[in-house]
Amino acid sequence: METYTDQYIGGSWRPSLGQGTITVLNPATEEALAAVAAGDAADVDAAVAAARAAQRAWGATGKETRLGFLTALRDGLAARQQEIAATVTAELGAPIGFATAVHAGLPLAVASGYVDLLSGFEFTERVGNSTVYREPAGVVGAITPWNYPLHQIVAKVVPALAAGCTVVLKPAEDTPLVARLFAQIVHEAGLPAGVFNLVTGVGTVAGAALAAHPDVELVSFTGSTAVGRAIAEQAGRGVKRVALELGGKSANVVLPGADLARAVNVNVGNVFANSGQTCSAWTRLLVHQDQYEEAVAIAAKAAAKYVPGDPTAAETRLGPVVNAKQRDRVRGYIQAGLDAGARLVAGGVDAPEGAERGFFVRPTILADVTPDMTVAQEEIFGPVLCVLAYRDEDHAAELANGTDYGLAGGVWAADEETAVAFARRMDTGQVDINGGRFNPLAPFGGYKGSGIGRELGRHGLEEFLRTKSLQF
Ligand code: NAD
Repeated sequence: METYTDQYIGGSWRPSLGQGTITVLNPATEEALAAVAAGDAADVDAAVAAARAAQRAWGATGKETRLGFLTALRDGLAARQQEIAATVTAELGAPIGFATAVHAGLPLAVASGYVDLLSGFEFTERVGNSTVYREPAGVVGAITPWNYPLHQIVAKVVPALAAGCTVVLKPAEDTPLVARLFAQIVHEAGLPAGVFNLVTGVGTVAGAALAAHPDVELVSFTGSTAVGRAIAEQAGRGVKRVALELGGKSANVVLPGADLARAVNVNVGNVFANSGQTCSAWTRLLVHQDQYEEAVAIAAKAAAKYVPGDPTAAETRLGPVVNAKQRDRVRGYIQAGLDAGARLVAGGVDAPEGAERGFFVRPTILADVTPDMTVAQEEIFGPVLCVLAYRDEDHAAELANGTDYGLAGGVWAADEETAVAFARRMDTGQVDINGGRFNPLAPFGGYKGSGIGRELGRHGLEEFLRTKSLQF
């Protein structure tokens, strides 16, 4: 087992100033994969100082210069796809097929999108007698979770660099290895020293120090609502910009006349992908009461195709969840649903057959879920689908909007016009119409408790810019 006691600061790997290490486990085997440095406030200070020292020169580079570096970074991601996928499979437990297509493929698509976008982006515009300059926001503190560990890094770091910001990244404790791999790719792309810095460490220590640092001008955070709220409160006191991508409890609404079988099958695949650890997952399936039992039967049949297994095997569709705490939390939610009167139609609280080791949860479908139940309100973050019945469209909209969250959703209808009309009633940042595909160039972010700000595409770039107007 490798032990890494260094941090990537100011363009090189330096010994961490923090004491101790964090052990990274393989969630499928529970074996230790590696240990990384548990950075502390002194590491964060050094990284922020390096980012601050590099900021003015990096922000003053022309678009063409930054485009050159980002193209090299994109090419580095392309060249290391297999290594990225294998790393995410090892530390997150994502099945290798999914890790290759999504955990490695999506960040590459996002980086490629920014290379294209930047080449056509105008940093100045003329408004009447003014010239408006879009200038970099400054030093960015990026704090990321473990569920899409590289995508969430790339979705912050690449637009921040494109905007002319410098970055200090604090990745999640469970998935620091792909973050270290990303730092190597940045290094090989030849970015100037201090433009990108990595500090691995515990959230309450290194993350808190980064969020609170007076020289960090913008905190971009993805993670739980509780931590996001604390970061926003602190940023408010410091008059610091903040972007928050938080949790979700998204609804997939199947309107009468839609292709029910397809809608339910796609929903089951959506909620079991990444073992349900997707903030935008459709964790609530809303079906008309007349089609309810038919939908539940289709969901139960679809769930049987998801057998938990070895994530390194090509045929595996469902891996473990990330750690023991998450496994126990998800099972606790399943039990709470059953205690509240939900009907178990697939899965359950016990360990899957044959899984003696690893943090596995049975892919679970709960029917007869009512909106007052905890499982209908709180984010479970595991392979659990709740099926709810609605009476009419108004009731469906009330249910869809009846949580504190508003991140994503789906609508299925006989025609697009009906689906779009319903989607416009949903208090949520993005909605897939009749199974529309995820678009890495479209803005992604939440309404209500799901967050503030947008990532991806032009909107994601603008998060890292501030305007200055000169009047003539
Ligand atoms: P988390 O909030 O515990 O951790 C996220 C990151 O914040 C980690 O790097 C962690 O070390 C750090 N952190 C923890 N405490 C901190 C503190 N006091 N100060 C500063 N940083 C701190 O969340 P998690 O359990 O790692 O991730 C799962 C959550 O993330 C889920 O709620 C999920 O919905 C959400 N999420 C949201 C999106 C989105 O785009 N909206 C995407 C992925 C995940």
